[in-house]
Amino acid sequence: MADKWDERKKALEDEYFVKKERELIAKLKAKKDEEAGQAVKEICHMRCPKCGERLKERSFQKILIDQCTGCRGIWLDAGELEQVAGREEGSWINRLWQRVEKQG
Ligand SMILES: [Zn+2]
Repeated sequence: MADKWDERKKALEDEYFVKKERELIAKLKAKKDEEAGQAVKEICHMRCPKCGERLKERSFQKILIDQCTGCRGIWLDAGELEQVAGREEGSWINRLWQRVEKQG
């Protein structure tokens, strides 16, 4: 019984995220590029995916990043990791990024 319920719950969660993703894609298509960035922010970046606390914008090496007010986790928008990595040639984050790119 418990397994069945877990399966159903998982299916509902998947449904929810698929729906959210579709809404996001619809927004991205409907809006101009500069507005699309804001739509992504509204859906993905208002709350921390890990602990659910609010994210606060702060600057790190002159790049705007989102930091969680709860767990202090840092979230990077698309391109921001490359920007951070690009600042420090040979840094650990640069080496990490090169590894991620190879895997992808
Ligand atoms: Zn958090």
